[in-house]
Amino acid sequence: MSELHADLTSLAYLVAAVLFIMALRGLSSPETSRAGNYFGMLGMLIAVLTTALSPEVQSYSWILVALATGAVIGVTIARRIAMTAMPQLVAGFHSLVGMAAVLVAGAAFSNPQAFGLLSEATGEIFVASRIEMGLGAVIGAITFSGSVIAFTKLQGLVSGAPVSFKGQHFLNAVVGLIILGLIVFFAFEQTPWVFWTMTALAFVIGVLIIIPIGGADMPVVVSMLNSYSGWAAAGIGFTLQNDALIVTGALVGSSGAILSYIMCKGMNRSFISVILGGFGGDSSAGAAGGADDRPVKQGSAEDAAFIMKNAGKVIIVPGYGMAVAQAQHALREMGDALKDEGVKVVYAIHPVAGRMPGHMNVLLAEANVSYDEVFELEDINSEFQTADVAFVIGANDVTNPSAKTDPTSPIFGMPVLDVEKARTVLFVKRSMASGYAGVQNELFYRDNTMMLFGDAKKMVETILRNLD
Ligand code: NDP
Repeated sequence: MSELHADLTSLAYLVAAVLFIMALRGLSSPETSRAGNYFGMLGMLIAVLTTALSPEVQSYSWILVALATGAVIGVTIARRIAMTAMPQLVAGFHSLVGMAAVLVAGAAFSNPQAFGLLSEATGEIFVASRIEMGLGAVIGAITFSGSVIAFTKLQGLVSGAPVSFKGQHFLNAVVGLIILGLIVFFAFEQTPWVFWTMTALAFVIGVLIIIPIGGADMPVVVSMLNSYSGWAAAGIGFTLQNDALIVTGALVGSSGAILSYIMCKGMNRSFISVILGGFGGDSSAGAAGGADDRPVKQGSAEDAAFIMKNAGKVIIVPGYGMAVAQAQHALREMGDALKDEGVKVVYAIHPVAGRMPGHMNVLLAEANVSYDEVFELEDINSEFQTADVAFVIGANDVTNPSAKTDPTSPIFGMPVLDVEKARTVLFVKRSMASGYAGVQNELFYRDNTMMLFGDAKKMVETILRNLD
């Protein structure tokens, strides 16, 4: 590569890296997230074009085939995917990043000369390259198999319940230590069986650390695998000596780790145990998912309209069911109608409401709900005791008091929205079914609760008609 070309390449990668950082900055707030996305796309375009134009590229035919295939698959998925299926889609994409890292490491190990990784002095792969290659392959393999398990759980192909057995932590620790030992050994001894054994064991440990996680803890797993996929890409960036990949991988790795940390704090889980896997509680314990025969107070859309019209303050708590029903637009109209009646209306968002981080924020923003009416859990929780109505629409786990009272509950310790402190709690849902974590919600049977059975969108539209 000529010196000028090398300088231009470094400059282009630097611009791409700055754009990625601006993308992350933009994505940190709903108001700037659209701009953030554009920065990210532009950065990626610059990075891909710069790599494609590098003199090492000898033929474009395979690259174009891969680009066209990827583009067709990507566009099809993006157009078809339901917002509620995002977590499994993201898990699926992470698995591809992990597998790509394993394949690149495997190719580099099998043909180090083509990658410029052979030391002339020893005729072997550079020690530093062996460490990078080993780390890339191991983290990639963990990301791949862990993401596949997360995908199957989130897609409902296998039960979402934790799978645990005696001696599980010990087994994880032993396999983890063997892998570490093999990475060190590989740095000294360039032996094929060491490389392939540690890669194979990494596939196994990826499965082992994700199977014990279940129920409400899956969101943290998705962001943790996001972080792993970033570190796998960074490791491979070293092998390929590609600065853009190193920087991008490190950005994904660290932002994923920060998101996991924030979510752990939101769910009151230990960050270290999440990284090492196997922190999920025993979902079979605690209140069973099914409803019992106790009577519940059931109301109609007319009742709900009457109660809310006469309220001073209504706090709306959206959850997964609102997303399924796509009720956000009708909900915003209902909020506006109530405001016209002089009612104070605000929205309370739990950090894991819905099926992906920020799910509710995105939907409310799409429906043009004003940002200053939307509050996070810690800012709104003390307000429920002064609210006349908590209008819970398609949310369940995020309101479940067993998280505060029942140590055997799989969601025990997770902070929840204290909706029961409002004078009246209205629950919009279709049945008495439990939520994602499979835990029965005691609130349905309380005296100050009224169940509004039906599809969230239809129910809100009927309430709206009754507000006129
Ligand atoms: P939940 O899954 O606890 O409850 C959603 C409720 O919505 C269900 O009980 C269901 O009851 C109801 N519902 C479903 N469809 C409709 C509909 N069309 N109309 C009305 N109601 C409907 O959701 P939450 O948001 O309260 O909690 C999220 C859960 O998902 C947590 O356990 C969280 O840990 C987990 N999770 C979160 C992720 C994230 O990143 N945010 C990712 C993965 C998991 P019914 O069937 O009776 O209608």
